[in-house]
Amino acid sequence: MWKSKLFDIVLIVISVFWSLSFAPLHVDLYKYIIAFIIYLLFSAFYAHLRIIQRKGTTNIDYGITYSQSFAAFAGPFGLLIYEIVHRFTIYFQRKYANTADPNELADTLYNISSFVLYNTVAFIFFYSLYPFAESIPFGYFILFFVTTIIINFQSDILLTSYLYLSNNLHTWTEVLAHFKNRTLLDVGKVALTNSLLYYFLMESQWEMLIIVFALNYVVSRSYVSKQESIQNELERDRFRKMAYTDFMTGLSNRAWMDKQMAEINGTGEKVGIVVADIDKFKRINDSYNHAVGDKVIQHFAEILKAHVNVDDGLFRTGGEEFTLFLRGRSFEECGELLEKLRMHVSVHPVSVDFNGTKRTISYTVSFGLYFDEMTDKLPMERAYVVADQLLLGAKDKGRNRINTKNGLKLL
Ligand code: GH3
Ligand code: MG
Ligand code: MG
Repeated sequence: MWKSKLFDIVLIVISVFWSLSFAPLHVDLYKYIIAFIIYLLFSAFYAHLRIIQRKGTTNIDYGITYSQSFAAFAGPFGLLIYEIVHRFTIYFQRKYANTADPNELADTLYNISSFVLYNTVAFIFFYSLYPFAESIPFGYFILFFVTTIIINFQSDILLTSYLYLSNNLHTWTEVLAHFKNRTLLDVGKVALTNSLLYYFLMESQWEMLIIVFALNYVVSRSYVSKQESIQNELERDRFRKMAYTDFMTGLSNRAWMDKQMAEINGTGEKVGIVVADIDKFKRINDSYNHAVGDKVIQHFAEILKAHVNVDDGLFRTGGEEFTLFLRGRSFEECGELLEKLRMHVSVHPVSVDFNGTKRTISYTVSFGLYFDEMTDKLPMERAYVVADQLLLGAKDKGRNRINTKNGLKLL
């Protein structure tokens, strides 16, 4: 820890003394104060849009920074005063709102000194090449772009060194991943914004300056809120899916079946409602254990999944009991499908691990199938009860069979 503290102190001393060597201000004091106030206000507005990433015990801020244009306008000494006021405003805001980190003061000092340091390097670079840039098309913007890259490079070096010294980065892979984190789009965004800001600062076009800030704010704000709403929607969908999914088999559960029933009710659609139940399942649980029983349930669920269509409904409605809504099929086709299923199960035993040895377990399934037209007179809920009774009939008749009733035939 002392290493990162020493790093902080060295950074502060270098940056403060170096920027002080640029004193006094080489810009009109009146212009400086106006620019100062506008930058401070917008930076405060912008603060809640910043993307903060936690790295170990340190927060990394990926938001856009306006310091580059301010430094180009006011020089390193002007930037030092601005950074001190700006960063300490944030510091006291957080202290007041009780959102400050334990390291807040150290982070504030780090931010002031690092921003001043690499913007001083950038300032020297910018003005050394400024005369050349003026003579080529888009030279002015290209210069801003390259300056932004230089700033980012220094910022990454300082930050990775700091993270390394404070034990938040350990390997080269982590360091490289950190460098790769920045994209050309990020660079373009910062360079374009700062070059426009700088232009309007130098021309004292305060209204335009405010418009660039406002544009930046509005675009970021709408982007962030859109992203948040997409995120919320995804989250909602995930929870909805969880609420309707049976974890053991990945199938839909009873709650989802109720919703499906409500959708089909009264449509006049012909549906084959099937209740399927593993025979003598308790014996499997008793002879082996619950985990083996679970494997058998999952095995049967996979077979069911493989045999139904996307339009069909397939639900786990009890321990070893499943319900199917067979759609787009005739009564005969429903019967054929169930016979195929029954045969498949009876010739495909499950392989399980039991006390360290491989076992194969054979099992059978009984089905109750009720086929009818889902009119107002016959809700799915009632048809389901009939299918369940048909299943009991299949059990009574000796299991491993399909017991059916074709509603239409009875009318
Ligand atoms: P039948 O042929 O009449 O259906 O006989 P059965 O033994 O299968 O009938 P029953 O419905 O009485 O027994 C089902 C058993 O399934 C009772 C319960 O302990 C067990 N069970 C319920 N849910 C689970 C589960 O998620 N995992 C396991 N392993 N067993 C379960
Ligand atoms: Mg059973
Ligand atoms: Mg049962």
